[in-house]
Amino acid sequence: MEGARGADAAAEDGAEDTVMQKLMTETFGPSKEAEQESDRVQRGLDKMSELEREAPNLRWLYESPLPRTERQARPLQCLYCHTAKPAVSCAKCKVAPYCDKTCQTADWRAGHKRSCARYQLLGRAMRVPDADAHRMLMTELLRSVRMHLSPFAIAAELSAAETRPAPDGRRFVFVQSESTLAELSLPTARDTCGAELSVRRTVLLQHVTLPEFEKLTQEESGLRLLTPTLGPLESAFGARRAVAKPDDALVLLCFADGYHALASVPLVPDRRVCLVLARDYMGKEALNLHLDDEDQ
Ligand SMILES: [Zn+2]
Ligand SMILES: [Zn+2]
Repeated sequence: MEGARGADAAAEDGAEDTVMQKLMTETFGPSKEAEQESDRVQRGLDKMSELEREAPNLRWLYESPLPRTERQARPLQCLYCHTAKPAVSCAKCKVAPYCDKTCQTADWRAGHKRSCARYQLLGRAMRVPDADAHRMLMTELLRSVRMHLSPFAIAAELSAAETRPAPDGRRFVFVQSESTLAELSLPTARDTCGAELSVRRTVLLQHVTLPEFEKLTQEESGLRLLTPTLGPLESAFGARRAVAKPDDALVLLCFADGYHALASVPLVPDRRVCLVLARDYMGKEALNLHLDDEDQ
């Protein structure tokens, strides 16, 4: 998939990309080692699909207070055929609404058996119950986007080094969504009441410096609530400076209900493979990931 595309791009050897060439040589060494290195990259790419299933080894650096907003009760719709008169609920989670047993059985087979626990966790109020559940859902989200996030972070770092030098290296990936974490955690773009979500499920990735972020929080009223994270960000950068070779991306996640958290996310599969994959992300200031696109 994405990984295979990156490998092809690397094999084509686009000599026009001098920044990348220089970095590749610096990172991978002289060309006699190139063949050996490309094997290594291939092994790394093979590992991608494996990693996609694994939980990332995250470190949480800051988490905001839990959101207090309660979602309004919605009229129920059958989660399978989408009609408006459900008469039964899933016997297990007691949340997912269906018109009848037939729809319930069909949806169970179509995938509800894998996501039943998620409906039970969120309930019809679509509320993430506690800090542990928030962490669990954010970890899952990061697992699904980090195949893009890792090379994007490296690519942004490379182009920023050229155009917007930040000598102290205080940059991070700002991940925002106009959906709540609960909405992003569902298997389809319908809420636990069966209603279609009003906002398309998208995650926006930006690579920003601390001053750029500070400016964002002052200009956009919606981001003002993120000001308390400036302190934790400062200390995270401080801690990173103490590490000789940081192989993590610093990531700030922010959701529609105001919930936000700061985490240190390991690059996958590693920095070197990300350098190769980064070709596909060069020059992109921001990256919009649509969760409901089949071909994404
Ligand atoms: Zn139905
Ligand atoms: Zn269920």
